[in-house]
Amino acid sequence: MARVLIVGAGLTGSLCAALLRRELPRPHLAHLEVWEKARGAGGRMATSRRGGASNADSTADLGAQYVTRGPDSARRHPSFYEDLLAHGILKPLTAVLEGMVVKEGAENFVTPQGTSSIVKHYLKESAGADIFYDRQVTHIYLRDGKWEVCVNTGSSDQFDVVILTMPVPQILQLQGDIVNLINKSQRQQLESVSYSSRYALGLFYEAGTQIDVPWAAQYISNNPCIRFISIDNKKRNIESPDIGPSVVVHTSVSFGTEYLECDKEKVQQLILDHLKEIMPQLPVPASIKCQRWRYSQVTKAFPGNPGQITLHAKPFLVCGGDGFTHSNFDGCIDSATSIVEVLKSSL
Ligand code: FAD
Repeated sequence: MARVLIVGAGLTGSLCAALLRRELPRPHLAHLEVWEKARGAGGRMATSRRGGASNADSTADLGAQYVTRGPDSARRHPSFYEDLLAHGILKPLTAVLEGMVVKEGAENFVTPQGTSSIVKHYLKESAGADIFYDRQVTHIYLRDGKWEVCVNTGSSDQFDVVILTMPVPQILQLQGDIVNLINKSQRQQLESVSYSSRYALGLFYEAGTQIDVPWAAQYISNNPCIRFISIDNKKRNIESPDIGPSVVVHTSVSFGTEYLECDKEKVQQLILDHLKEIMPQLPVPASIKCQRWRYSQVTKAFPGNPGQITLHAKPFLVCGGDGFTHSNFDGCIDSATSIVEVLKSSL
């Protein structure tokens, strides 16, 4: 009878929760909790919502933009795509994305309700899991054959199994007994995992605002700051007179790295200045959200792309996420499935 804690309500954590509920029924899985440091689910599949009742449906994908099913993923993970398509969470991408490189045999999908709807779907599938937000894990101790997991508010709880799904540098920041459980070779390999950094802006407009461009998104190659612009509602095929449009801007990695430690408001203004050069006709937004992605996409994964590594066998402590595979939907499926397999074989 295991009490299981998943740390992180991003794609890997939510998928682990759904798969554990499906593949590890009672009595093995007595209790499942997910602890997330942010206020909501999604992680890097973040969908930001403009506040205010009149624009409740104006949303913008600040992280992942679309899901690509390559020939290999169609062969290896068909059921994951079929499930999301059947629930209307994924829809084929039909809008024009200028400058997008489409690989042979690959299909692209968008999420009409935003990319966080994928994560929310899996959390729902984990029926019965208790999900807690605003809970940042800071320390993990080994006490009487169980994990004592502490959060930033000072509270703690005990679990038989802990699954860590955050970016690898955030795993390495955890304190407590976990520091000594990671052996020298594992630490070296964990420290070798690297991520790019970039900024994202979400610009929200009042309903009825016209953004007259012939494309839904565009990759930019000749600007020192901006790499990608999306008319986000158009990209997701949800153009409606009642919903204000939204624009998403992603910076280049070189800009993200250069300005990583700078004041977010100043960076936001710099990005807006560059955006004005590219789109001088763009109306003034009603509100703006600036997101700093310190850990954006994996540039070097854990050696051998194992999907997970087991830090301790009894009690079980495992870490996974895209740092152990690669940064996309398939990478997170690979990680979540390998975590569930290793956990099943350990019980
Ligand atoms: P995360 O999403 O990072 O989830 C980890 C979670 O753990 C987070 O919610 C975090 O808040 C939480 N957490 C961290 N530390 C703690 C703690 N101490 N306690 C509690 N919770 C904690 N992928 C695609 O497939 N297509 C794309 O178009 C695409 N574009 C991208 C564009 C950008 C700008 C970014 C940033 C990513 C993009 N990706 C894309 C990659 C994709 O978003 C990621 O690979 C995927 O979301 C990673 O999921 P994850 O669950 O492994 O990690």
